[in-house]
Amino acid sequence: MVKADNINDIIDHKLFSEDDIHEMCVRLGKQLTEDYAGKKPLVVGALKGAIYFLTDLTRQMDVAHQLDFIDVSSYGDGFESTGKVKIVTDLATDVKDRDVLIVEDIVDTGLTLKFMKDLIKKRGAKSVKCCAMLNKESRRNVDVDLEYYGSKVGNEFVVGYGLDFLNMYRNIPYVGVLKPEVLPYFVFVYKSKLANPAMLI
Ligand code: 5GP
Ligand code: MG
Ligand code: MG
Repeated sequence: MVKADNINDIIDHKLFSEDDIHEMCVRLGKQLTEDYAGKKPLVVGALKGAIYFLTDLTRQMDVAHQLDFIDVSSYGDGFESTGKVKIVTDLATDVKDRDVLIVEDIVDTGLTLKFMKDLIKKRGAKSVKCCAMLNKESRRNVDVDLEYYGSKVGNEFVVGYGLDFLNMYRNIPYVGVLKPEVLPYFVFVYKSKLANPAMLI
């Protein structure tokens, strides 16, 4: 049994501090302010992980924009992509002729991002770009452009600042690396397909 009641039970070490993340938001916000000047983009947050990054990022954007959300899921066991992506909650806004900026927590294999970009393009958007907090570039296995990102990360499972462990711990104010001994248990709990797998830990 893995104990996972507190942050210290699951986080091995801090990877990006609150200051690091703030700097990413300031830098990216400045760039987006320049690139979207006069365009009134539709900012699309990818639920649920991107909401923490989105609220900080958009407050650094001096550009009039609208907000919407989409929830697509691709993770079969919560750790590795299954290859199948489905819409869980769709956008409420018509994207036709809009400049759409998708905000993501992390782009890993790229499957989720490619699915969202293809969907939004197919619906007639004028442009579709993405800004992610983190870029796991070495894990990419589909061809998809990631126009903006805060930082690259290696092949480690990161948690916090929106990124979850069993749909918990998104509220950790920094990004940390999951303790290696917790990982196999994580996969096991997910594969058990319980309605509330978090109750197992
Ligand atoms: P992709 O389709 O690019 O493989 O996966 C994207 C999604 O998988 C991300 O939006 C995120 O929700 C999840 N993901 C990928 N890597 C990590 C990680 O290191 N930690 C967490 N918590 N989620 C991840
Ligand atoms: Mg995500
Ligand atoms: Mg997740």
